[in-house]
Amino acid sequence: MSIQLFGLPVSRGVAIGRAVLVASSRVDVAHYFIEPANAAAEIGRLCRARDLVAAELSRLKAELPHDAPAELPALLDVHLMLLHDPMLEDATRQWIVERHYNAEWAVSAQTEVLVRQFDEMEDEYLRDRKADVEQVAERLLAALVSGHQGLLPVTTAVSGGDPLVLVATDIAPADMLQFKRSVFSGFVTDVGGRTSHTAIVARSLDIPAVVGAREASRLVCQDDWLIIDGDQGVVVVNPSPIVLEEYRFRQQQSDLERDRLKRLRYKPAVTLDGQPIELLANIELPRDAEAALEAGAVGVGLFRSEFLFMNRNGELPDEDEQYQAYRSVVEAMKGLPVTIRTIDIGADKPLDRASGPESRHDAVLNPALGLRAIRWSLAEPDMFLKQLRAILRAAACGKVRILIPMLAQRSEIHAVREALATARQQLDAQGVAHGPVELGAMIEVPAAAISLSMLMPHFDFFSIGTNDLIQYTLAIDRADEQVAALYDGWHPAVLSLISSVIRQCNDAGKSVSVCGEMAGDPACTELLLAMGLRAFSMQPAQLPAVKQRLLRADTSRLDDLLQSLEGEDDPARAWPVLLRTRAVAA
Ligand code: PEP
Ligand code: MG
Repeated sequence: MSIQLFGLPVSRGVAIGRAVLVASSRVDVAHYFIEPANAAAEIGRLCRARDLVAAELSRLKAELPHDAPAELPALLDVHLMLLHDPMLEDATRQWIVERHYNAEWAVSAQTEVLVRQFDEMEDEYLRDRKADVEQVAERLLAALVSGHQGLLPVTTAVSGGDPLVLVATDIAPADMLQFKRSVFSGFVTDVGGRTSHTAIVARSLDIPAVVGAREASRLVCQDDWLIIDGDQGVVVVNPSPIVLEEYRFRQQQSDLERDRLKRLRYKPAVTLDGQPIELLANIELPRDAEAALEAGAVGVGLFRSEFLFMNRNGELPDEDEQYQAYRSVVEAMKGLPVTIRTIDIGADKPLDRASGPESRHDAVLNPALGLRAIRWSLAEPDMFLKQLRAILRAAACGKVRILIPMLAQRSEIHAVREALATARQQLDAQGVAHGPVELGAMIEVPAAAISLSMLMPHFDFFSIGTNDLIQYTLAIDRADEQVAALYDGWHPAVLSLISSVIRQCNDAGKSVSVCGEMAGDPACTELLLAMGLRAFSMQPAQLPAVKQRLLRADTSRLDDLLQSLEGEDDPARAWPVLLRTRAVAA
């Protein structure tokens, strides 16, 4: 049966493929593809885990006290039986051999299939056996995880040839990184907001994605055919042939449009009235620099360095490793400026799924208001100094700017400047080469926007983080799909903060950019130009569409338009009408 699910469109385009369900499990397991040649070895892992569980169940049974309830040994026998049942054992091997899933993923995929079959059973007794299957699977997963040496890299190996789309309750940003080199042509998650970090990484992959689709992972089955419409936020499960045909047509149109936009790459970013605009790239990993250059970016406006610290099982990169990473970006950008933001972990960006200092976040009621970004760096001075030294060393190889996230307090400003001076002294004392850097502050907390004059003398440049600025101005969790409709960059309070920061920076002759998602949204291009913004930083994939927009804009006719927006009930709706009526944009 075909059904439609609705969520938030977060990454444009249409993806059509078979569903790969990443089941949520109480045991935290890795999902990755193995090389086909390694299938036998993976089955070997599975067998060893099964033998471990079998031995554990037998031991439990042998050690049961005499007065244990009579059902217990019987239950353990049932679990032992299930463990060797072809329904679980053979089918799990099949996922490994035919789909090249790693053993943990194969177990959770097959458990999901079985759980659904049990759910549909009429007989109540049999239906209740579902819990036994789940328990056996949990034991198997725990045995696999305990015998496993960390995440293996995702490979592009996959069988069958059908395109695959990923369906999950949620995907941590750290996991999204694993998927960066993977085969998925689209994503759907149950939770998440438009500017959650998972959505941002999905956009950086430039593949269609819908988040906040609530029931998706419950309603979609492994191998279902799915259409993911990343423009409208619609997911069609098992579409009829006619719907499929319509979407295939739209997919072709969207691919053609992408190719057309790519041709703008070498065109200088200059408005109709001759204003040069800086289009910069947001990147998460050093290798993203390639996509930045490919898209025609004139520098990196935001390198989210925290992604270097993720998926490391608690072992953070040391100064040398960081230096090599920063240097590789600086060199890859061939003389163009690279803005490295110091680590911004916390809130919806933990380092790993279940380890490190951020594991406390589950227990903290408001992680977004807690120890994140610069607050965390200042609380971990050794780590912070290590990062600053690594950046300063990379600055000896090219143009580097340091960007500090989430500043809001006078004390933080001074602490940051002191730390930077200390890092320099330490390098000098060791005789290690380092280069000059510009120091910048992110404006993403309303307090910083309102008291910008406090920050102004201490920083060379500013970058407006609209993702957090919206969240903190409106008190709307950016990652919570339940309040996503209220997360609104066009709210007058947000617009007034953004425009005031841009104006003050322009008046003071300080460079200012926007590096939040609003910069990459073509619907906001003229608005930000009208506010006086001349530097935009975004995911490389968004750059061509924004460039197309500004090439058709005339800033001299935009200024007074902004005043007309004041007092509008719904600025997001009013703005395109104003633009059309004044014919300032195509
Ligand atoms: C922002 O808040 O707008 C921003 C760019 O930072 P991040 O999305 O990484 O929090
Ligand atoms: Mg931010």
